[in-house]
Amino acid sequence: MAVEDRELGWRSAWRRRGAELTTALLDLVLPTRCVGCNAVIEAHELLCPACAPALVAVERACRCCGAADAPAPRCGRCEATPPPFGRAWAPWLYGGPLALAIRQLKYGDATYLLRPLGRLLPALDGGTEGSRAAPVLVVPVPLHRDQLVRRGYNQAALLARELARRARAPIDYRALLRVRATRPQVGLGRGARERNVAGAFRACPERVRGRHLVLVDDVITTGATAAACARALRRAGAAAVEVLALARAESPR
Ligand SMILES: [Zn+2]
Ligand SMILES: [Zn+2]
Repeated sequence: MAVEDRELGWRSAWRRRGAELTTALLDLVLPTRCVGCNAVIEAHELLCPACAPALVAVERACRCCGAADAPAPRCGRCEATPPPFGRAWAPWLYGGPLALAIRQLKYGDATYLLRPLGRLLPALDGGTEGSRAAPVLVVPVPLHRDQLVRRGYNQAALLARELARRARAPIDYRALLRVRATRPQVGLGRGARERNVAGAFRACPERVRGRHLVLVDDVITTGATAAACARALRRAGAAAVEVLALARAESPR
């Protein structure tokens, strides 16, 4: 198996080989359907015009962690303890049909949603604070090897591949590893989330030293996972870490 296949998981590898052709053929005969209401829509769209307003943009974001409705320029939490990443940014609020689509991608093998979801990712070439002095490298938030085998693919890696492809930026699936299996963060409070992922990641110094890393995930909630990843990347010598995700979920206490 090629390195990319191994890192993206066996399901996506199969899809790219045989099933991708089938998907392309099915695309020609089966109409694309709106994730919100199942209406027939334009190919590679996620929502019909009636459901599109259900996609809500993050407003008044903290310039550091990207939390919505923060006092300018930074939220109180970032003011008190600056996070280990330079900036985290997700353009959409997690909820409604977007949440449904992300869950389908994550747990329902709905990799046909990659293209429309990929188009909702923030662009790599704009909207970021400051300049990227060092060469950019896209790095997905990794799954543990056991999780990857169980789920069949890493949705963050698939999204990162979409982002890298669009920006023509290099991507490295081996730069960051999840060396300890972690519980799902869903349902955990802020402190429990931090403890759950503390020390779970290890970065490869030869791959990240001196680079400006763009860490990609599907959803940011408290930023605990992003912070744990960023700490590992900075320890391995990364020049800077920036976090990009699709959606921002409401943070638990
Ligand atoms: Zn709709
Ligand atoms: Zn903040």
